[in-house]
Amino acid sequence: MPLTQPSADVVIVGGGVIGCAIAYYLAKDGARVAIVERDTVGAHASSAAAGMLGAQVETTHPGPFVSLCLESRARFPRLAEALYALTGIDIELNRAGLLRLAQNDEEQQALLARAEWQRALGEPAEWLDGFALREREPAVSDAVVGALAIPGDHQVNAAKLTRAFAEAAVRLGARIIEHCAVERFLRHGTRVVGVETEGETYRAEWTVLAAGAWSGVLGRRLGLRLPVGPVKGESLSVVLQAVPFRKTLFAHGCYLVPKQGGRVVIGATEARAGFDRRVTLAAVTQLAAAAKTLVPALAEATFERAWASVRPHSADGLPFLGTVAGHPGLVVATGHFRNGILLAPITGELIAQLIRTGQTPDLLAPFSPDRLLEAANGISAASQGGEAR
Ligand SMILES: Cc1cc2nc3c(=O)[nH]c(=O)nc-3n(C[C@H](O)[C@H](O)[C@H](O)COP(=O)(O)OP(=O)(O)OC[C@H]3O[C@@H](n4cnc5c(N)ncnc54)[C@H](O)[C@@H]3O)c2cc1C
Repeated sequence: MPLTQPSADVVIVGGGVIGCAIAYYLAKDGARVAIVERDTVGAHASSAAAGMLGAQVETTHPGPFVSLCLESRARFPRLAEALYALTGIDIELNRAGLLRLAQNDEEQQALLARAEWQRALGEPAEWLDGFALREREPAVSDAVVGALAIPGDHQVNAAKLTRAFAEAAVRLGARIIEHCAVERFLRHGTRVVGVETEGETYRAEWTVLAAGAWSGVLGRRLGLRLPVGPVKGESLSVVLQAVPFRKTLFAHGCYLVPKQGGRVVIGATEARAGFDRRVTLAAVTQLAAAAKTLVPALAEATFERAWASVRPHSADGLPFLGTVAGHPGLVVATGHFRNGILLAPITGELIAQLIRTGQTPDLLAPFSPDRLLEAANGISAASQGGEAR
């Protein structure tokens, strides 16, 4: 018989960057919050991420997703200060900006079109031809024909951001229970009233499903066909005496993110491989070759390590954020795919607002989970990644 824990206002399933951000903003509002995490805080995608805040580099057309990304990106400078003041953790916000590299004419044309709508939104995006590009970043090879300079797309240390959210939430009164997998959801009629692990019961007014790539699998335990599953990403890092470029360099199929201590993160592959988190030689060699094509000086760098994780991908590539029709007491916050680090602040802030007021904030409305639940009836367990671990 599971032990019943003191009840909370909110129980959050998953201690990745999304669950921890939600806990932080809720705790700031004075709510009693518990995170239940199967492994440890930030054990999965949230520590594997390169930490780019790619509001402009990751978006190809204007719309509600761009607005969400830009709003979230704008929160980082103040957030970095607030988290540092509370926890002493520096999330390493790097404001050098990003260059989206073009390696052929087709890419150049697509980037020029993108620059136009981004500038119309008031976001700087300047085209640099090969000469102007190499004036700014001389280490970039002649294989690159030009670049879109995006000064607003900054980057952070993703693992530290996740840890800072978690520690800040704890300082504000939240509880984090690690090494504890949610097995079932508690119901009172149709209402979701908490979760059950192997040994414990956690009752709450609100239950937040923020289990990343595992959210689809867990959703099925609620009778919910949430079309979210894993997309594997592999990355590696190298170390140099001095990194020969300052800005993040982002090309088709490969990006190079300069970090503190002479480190460069080289990422990332994208593959539908279920929950497989092995690092393959094929991925490492492919990324290393692409990196050397962009910046030949990287051939002399020292290999540091390689890693893999699974991004939470929804059927339409957009996040699921909000309540779910027919499941009162439940909030879903998942499907952030390639942009969960970028989107953590806005997700945390607006999900906390939704829980506090009972009203869906306007910015979240286009991301209601209800948009795909019916369409998901045709999605099989296999296409969501099959096995749960
Ligand atoms: C290689 C790579 C590079 C990336 N680069 C970037 C980037 O540069 N910028 C960016 O914005 N995003 C990036 N991303 C995407 C980003 O990492 C994700 O969108 C984000 O981390 C998702 O956060 P999450 O909290 O939803 O998921 P996760 O971090 O995966 O956390 C989910 C948590 O739920 C837990 N869980 C699962 N099942 C249960 C259960 N039954 N009970 C309790 N807990 C459970 C898991 O253990 C896990 O800790 C990258 C991802 C990868 C893989």
